[in-house]
Amino acid sequence: MIPASELSWRFESWQDQLKNAERDPAQLLSRLGLDADKLALDMDQGFPTRVPHAFVSRMRYGDPADPLLRQVLPVLSERLIAPGYSHDPLQEADATLRPGLLQKYNGRALAITTGACAVHCRYCFRRHFPYGDSGALTAKHLAELAERPDVQELILSGGDPLSLPDKILARLLDDIDALPAIRRIRLHTRLPIVIPARVTEDLKAMLADRRTSVTVVVHANHARELDADTGEALRALKQSTTALLNQSVLLAGVNDNADALINLSNDLGDLGVLPYYLHMPDAVAGTQHFAVSETRARDLIQKIRAQLPGYLVPRLVREEPGKDSKTVLL
Ligand SMILES: *Cc1c(COP(=O)(O)O)cnc(C)c1O
Ligand code: SF4
Repeated sequence: MIPASELSWRFESWQDQLKNAERDPAQLLSRLGLDADKLALDMDQGFPTRVPHAFVSRMRYGDPADPLLRQVLPVLSERLIAPGYSHDPLQEADATLRPGLLQKYNGRALAITTGACAVHCRYCFRRHFPYGDSGALTAKHLAELAERPDVQELILSGGDPLSLPDKILARLLDDIDALPAIRRIRLHTRLPIVIPARVTEDLKAMLADRRTSVTVVVHANHARELDADTGEALRALKQSTTALLNQSVLLAGVNDNADALINLSNDLGDLGVLPYYLHMPDAVAGTQHFAVSETRARDLIQKIRAQLPGYLVPRLVREEPGKDSKTVLL
């Protein structure tokens, strides 16, 4: 029986769920009936623990290998220093138009709208990103974009753009709408997955009512991240966007088996969310325990392609600094 106190998040607004996210790894484990002393946790973290209770509620009680828990639990393996791993493997510092505005590829720029995320994913490639230097899009960013008619799509990333309050988000979207060269706005967000209550009526109206087309790319790595609440949120988002896509990261011990990937694609497909990218994990310091070899990744994609309709097979990609697009691994 789950105590009523464990369900109180259900009555909270998305803002309160964000604020009250679990920040103590030992407490997280105790909620799951697990003993912190038996797991090699890293309690002294540069990248602190953060996981909303709506996400914790989808974890399996008593399972230290739970694929959702593994994505958020800080472990001592993060201290390993492996050759080839660094703080900025994608050399994003080189692609910076202005602090907070990156352009790596023709036609699209990416704005770091905030450093805040609803959940801290241990494998995050921006876990060492100097967010202090960025911030919301300022007049300077907008002026920079106005001088670049080649940029037709602006990707709002972060951090997580949907962690911004509606008022700020609305102003941001209005400012972008006013840039004549921009045809498409894209939001990269994990919030509808980890706190489905974020998809409010106001948000839906804000996204639907645009000159520019709006694509939302959510981020789920495992079918168990999609429960009834998430399903409802994604169906609602789908009605107010031009396209709704998902990106995942291929992670050892989370989704590096054909069944997990097939289940995820099937469940996304049922909700009308198309799998877009399956990213090879980047060589970010502290994340080597999530690494999957390229041979194994290709083998997995071949296996899932043999089981799924083509439109539910994500593109397996790796990011290589200096290339003019992400590299598709065939
Ligand atoms: C991944 C990424 C994009 C988007 O690439 P698509 O292939 O269009 O999805 C754009 N800008 C930056 C900086 C990126 O890292
Ligand atoms: S939500 Fe995205 S940006 Fe935020 S920690 Fe997770 S992977 Fe990184």
